[in-house]
Amino acid sequence: MTNIIYADNAATTCLDPDAYEAMKPFLLSDFGNPSNTYSFSRAPRKALNDARQIIAECIGANYDEIVFTSGGTEGINWAIKGTALKNKFKKTHIITSSFEHHAVLNSCSFLEKIGFDVNYLPIDQKGYLSKDTLREYLRPDTKLVSIMLANNEIGTIQDLRGFSEITKNNQSILHTDAVQAVGHIPIDVKYLDIDLLSASAHKFNGPKGVGFNYIKKGTELFSLISGGKQEKGLRAGTENIAGIVGMAVALKKNCEKINKNRIYLHQHTKKIITMLHESDIDFLENGSEERLPGIISISIKDQEGESIIHQLDLKGIIISTGSACSSGTTEISHVIKAIGTPVEYAMGTIRISLGVNNKENDAKIIAQSIASIVKNN
Ligand code: PLP
Repeated sequence: MTNIIYADNAATTCLDPDAYEAMKPFLLSDFGNPSNTYSFSRAPRKALNDARQIIAECIGANYDEIVFTSGGTEGINWAIKGTALKNKFKKTHIITSSFEHHAVLNSCSFLEKIGFDVNYLPIDQKGYLSKDTLREYLRPDTKLVSIMLANNEIGTIQDLRGFSEITKNNQSILHTDAVQAVGHIPIDVKYLDIDLLSASAHKFNGPKGVGFNYIKKGTELFSLISGGKQEKGLRAGTENIAGIVGMAVALKKNCEKINKNRIYLHQHTKKIITMLHESDIDFLENGSEERLPGIISISIKDQEGESIIHQLDLKGIIISTGSACSSGTTEISHVIKAIGTPVEYAMGTIRISLGVNNKENDAKIIAQSIASIVKNN
């Protein structure tokens, strides 16, 4: 890993060393099952409670509003299907946007197959969903609105508080996929006034395979995972104690340094954009001005994103693309399509996502390498 410049932090992040240290005892010595009543289970049970409290404080929630999951995909599936299936026939309309993560889109299309009615709302060129559009599509039978807090490809941050004012008036549940946002931008669920939020530890320097849902007190969810009485009977299965402990340590650390990290990442993303402009390559910058720290999505004219990332890979630079090559043809991602990037640019979309582990010089090397690859293509 020493010679690699890893700039794909929106895909996953490196585990924080303190999180790793905090996890170790729960794998090696204090490995008891927290549900048992004997003394050996006391330490893991306390760790579970402490982690829940830490996580609740990080997002302005109450202790008993946090439920642990196996990550973003499970949390999102649960929030969407669990809301829809509770009192199944009461309200059957669901609203989401056209540029959500596939965990949201595919949960919604599953519900469509079993009889729910779903609208996938359009977003504008910067990636914003307008309040007027939401008002226009909202119906008396809209049970759920699921809009991501921050987009994973272009980093646009939505005005969730503005949306919650609208959904409350309609008695619709508001869920947000906050997988890219938690630990990276300040979040206060009470201020946002949302009902459900899903998060994933591996996006904020926690371990993979663990996450949490915020479930506002009084919000009713159908349980998708049946079994024992863990998590107050809402989500069965022996808890991933080590993962949960690591997640809490990583989130607390990130939240304590959220502003410092934002400034650091902003300096570096600005440097990359400035250097790319100076190198005279023809590209469009995707997303809004105010976006997730560290994320840059650009679409370069007459290029193939897939080819650029492979050439960067050969130089030891890891970034990702906004288009995917399958069976010999390059497909533009649904996010880049949704914001209407012209096709001659869209094919050449790449995403750089810097993280706190990136070094001072990384931005310069990334920008120089992209410029030289594009000029030689
Ligand atoms: N939602 C968004 C916006 C994501 O970026 C991701 C992961 O890439 C997910 C959901 C899925 O999360 P997980 O990998 O924890 O299942």
